[in-house]
Amino acid sequence: MIIVDKEFGEVIVRKNAWCRGVKFSVSTSGRLAMSVPKYTSEFLAKRFLNANRKMIREKLPVKDPAGQRARDYQKKQLMKKAHEYLPYRLEYYAKLYGYKYDNFRLSHANTRWGSCTHRKHAESSTETITISLNIGLMNVPEVLRDYVILHELAHINHPDHSKDFWAEVGRHDHNYKLHERRLKGFSPGV
Ligand SMILES: [Zn+2]
Repeated sequence: MIIVDKEFGEVIVRKNAWCRGVKFSVSTSGRLAMSVPKYTSEFLAKRFLNANRKMIREKLPVKDPAGQRARDYQKKQLMKKAHEYLPYRLEYYAKLYGYKYDNFRLSHANTRWGSCTHRKHAESSTETITISLNIGLMNVPEVLRDYVILHELAHINHPDHSKDFWAEVGRHDHNYKLHERRLKGFSPGV
């Protein structure tokens, strides 16, 4: 359910069977979100919102409501760009350096540039490797984008941040330390 509020714009209301009280947070789109018990009516949700207005204003970084739609549009465009670029760039480097993975996913988490997960299958003693790359990578310089890709590819052989892992990253990106540092100046959140 969505509540349209004069101050906060579109407020996402999530009904949750396990939720006892009301919890406020900020969604990945920057909108205010509230979790409420399953049978909460819109009327009641608005009352909760009114009762917590001051706390929300002070504590939650809700992005300006007027820009919400514009950001949705930007995100969609970025998703499209990422979709047309990242899987191919990843494949290019994988082929160049002889890496193999099973799945590729685009992500839009706010905190991580990418991930490489190994899912072990006990029955067949095989594993499935999935690489995720954040669509926010389309907003950073190409060298940093490539660094993240090489970083995640190196995780195929080393699922940790051990010395051996960094040595492998360093073989394919001689400036990886600089790139890791520069990347800290950007945020993956869109
Ligand atoms: Zn890593």
